[in-house]
Amino acid sequence: MTKLIELEKDETIKVSSNVINYIKPSVVYIPYENAPILVKPNTITDIGTPLFKSANKIITSPISGIIKNYQKVMTINGEKYALEIINDFKERKKLEPIKKITLNKINKESLEKLLQYQFNISFENKNVLILNAIDDNPYVLTQNFYLLLNYEGFLEILNQFAKIFSLTKVIICLKETSSENINKLLECLGMYPNIELQILPNFYLLGEPLILINYLHLSLSSTLVLNTALLYDIYNLIKRNRQKTDKLITISGTALKEPSIVKVKVGTPLKSLLDNLVILKEPEVTYIAGGLLKGQIIEPENFIIDENLDSILIMPKVPEKREEACIHCGACLNICPVEINPLLLREPNYLKKVQNKCLKCGLCSYICPSYINFNKYLNGGSNE
Ligand code: SF4
Ligand code: SF4
Repeated sequence: MTKLIELEKDETIKVSSNVINYIKPSVVYIPYENAPILVKPNTITDIGTPLFKSANKIITSPISGIIKNYQKVMTINGEKYALEIINDFKERKKLEPIKKITLNKINKESLEKLLQYQFNISFENKNVLILNAIDDNPYVLTQNFYLLLNYEGFLEILNQFAKIFSLTKVIICLKETSSENINKLLECLGMYPNIELQILPNFYLLGEPLILINYLHLSLSSTLVLNTALLYDIYNLIKRNRQKTDKLITISGTALKEPSIVKVKVGTPLKSLLDNLVILKEPEVTYIAGGLLKGQIIEPENFIIDENLDSILIMPKVPEKREEACIHCGACLNICPVEINPLLLREPNYLKKVQNKCLKCGLCSYICPSYINFNKYLNGGSNE
C-alpha cells in the first residue's frame, strides 16, 4: 500500500469563491507537437475552427481572429512552437463543430467512438467510473471549482454514462476539506441512486488516479478515472455542442492580494493575465507553475496558459537554497510513496529502471534538509 502524508498548509491563503473571467485576451498561442497544421497564416479563424490534430484529438481555435505565424513559447511541459492568433473580438463561432448529440438517443458504439476520438478515453471493460475532484497541491482548487460550477450538469451526464455503459458504480471523490461541494452534492444525490460520494482525508497524492484506485480497493483494469476538468470538456461538447475554448486556473500564493480562480481562454499569455488581474503584496516574487511540490519556478514572460496548466502560485522571493552534501538522514527514502531510493537517481541504470514508477511528486526534494533537488535527475539533468 502506498504511504500517504498530510501536508502542512498556510491557512491564511483563502481563494475567493467568485470566479474571475479573463476571456478576452488580445492574443492566444496554441502549442502543437509535430501535428499537421490545418490552417494557413494570415487567414481568418472562428471559435471552433480546427487548427491541428494532435495526439488523438483535434485542437480548435478558442477565439475568432487572424492566424499569424508560429512562435516559440514556454509551457508547463517546456518550450514549444505555438500558433499565434490575434483576437478580433467578434466572437464568431464555427457552426456545428460536431453533429449535435442527444445522449438519450445516441447508441453506445457512437458515443464510445466520439469519446475515444475527441478525448482519448474508453469505457471498454470498465464497470466503475470515478469523477476525481481532488486537488493535490496545497492552495490549488481548480478541480474543486470545475465541480462547484457545474455539479448539476456533471451529475446528469454521469448518470447517463452509468446507464449507457452499464456501470455498476459511479463515485465522486472529494477531499474532506471541500465542504461547499460536499454540501451541494449531498442535497442532490438523492435523485441519483447510482452515484455515490467518497469523502477522503486530505492526504497528498490521493488525486493520482493509480493511488486513488488503490486506496479505494478497486480494480485497476475495470475502473476509469476522469478528472473534473476533462468532464467539463466532455460536458461542453456533448451537451452544449461546444469545443474547448476556456479553462479554469488557480492564481494563488502568499505574495498576491486576492488569490482567485480565473476562467481563461486556452493559450492566454500568463503575463497579460497577471498585468490585468493580479495585485502583488511583495516587491519581489517567485512564480511557480503547476503546484508547490510538483511544479516548477517560471518566468511569466512568454509563458502560456495551455490546457495542461492548473495553477500559478505567487510566493515572496526567497534566496535560492544552495545544495549541500547529503547527510544520509534517510528522509527522502522514507517519504517516497512508491519506495524508490532517491539517492540512487543519479545512477543512470537505476534512473532508467524507476523513471516510469516515479510519480514526480516532489516529496523527496521537499523533505531533504540538504536542499537536494531530485527533479533535475528525473528531468534528465546531471548530478553536477
Ligand atoms: S519524486 Fe521522489 S518521492 Fe516522489 S515518487 Fe519520485 S522518487 Fe519518490
Ligand atoms: S533527505 Fe537529503 S540528506 Fe537525507 S538522505 Fe536523502 S538526500 Fe541525503
